[in-house]
Amino acid sequence: MTQSTCLFCQIAEKKIPAKIAYEGKQIIAFHDIAPQAPVHILIIPKEHIATVNDFSEQEASLLGHMVLTAKKLAHELGIAEDGYRLNMNCNHLGGQTVFHTHLHLLAGRQFGWPPG
Ligand code: 5GP
Ligand code: ZN
Repeated sequence: MTQSTCLFCQIAEKKIPAKIAYEGKQIIAFHDIAPQAPVHILIIPKEHIATVNDFSEQEASLLGHMVLTAKKLAHELGIAEDGYRLNMNCNHLGGQTVFHTHLHLLAGRQFGWPPG
């Protein structure tokens, strides 16, 4: 299911352009428009799922697929050995601004803990 007003649904449907890094049947990955690191890719389900809170057991394999795609991209981009950060923000206090859930793949600089 897609939502015509959702920005990331429109990117998944190619109605809004994005620099696509990977596309599969269930997910699509594209470069962030305002990168927070030298590598900043967003991995999203093509299906509209608003937040992490909306994932159920049914989406367990979809979630696994998202993480494994991040790993695959990290290898392809040559950043796997140096390391990278995977991040999913949920709702307002989690810093989520686009309500179509997405996994951030960030790399190319040092990240600390806790995140700033
Ligand atoms: P959030 O804050 O929801 O976890 O992350 C949303 C991300 O989407 C932000 O990093 C933001 O820069 C990115 N973003 C927002 N609008 C667009 C867009 O139109 N195209 C792309 N490629 N990224 C976007
Ligand atoms: Zn959507």
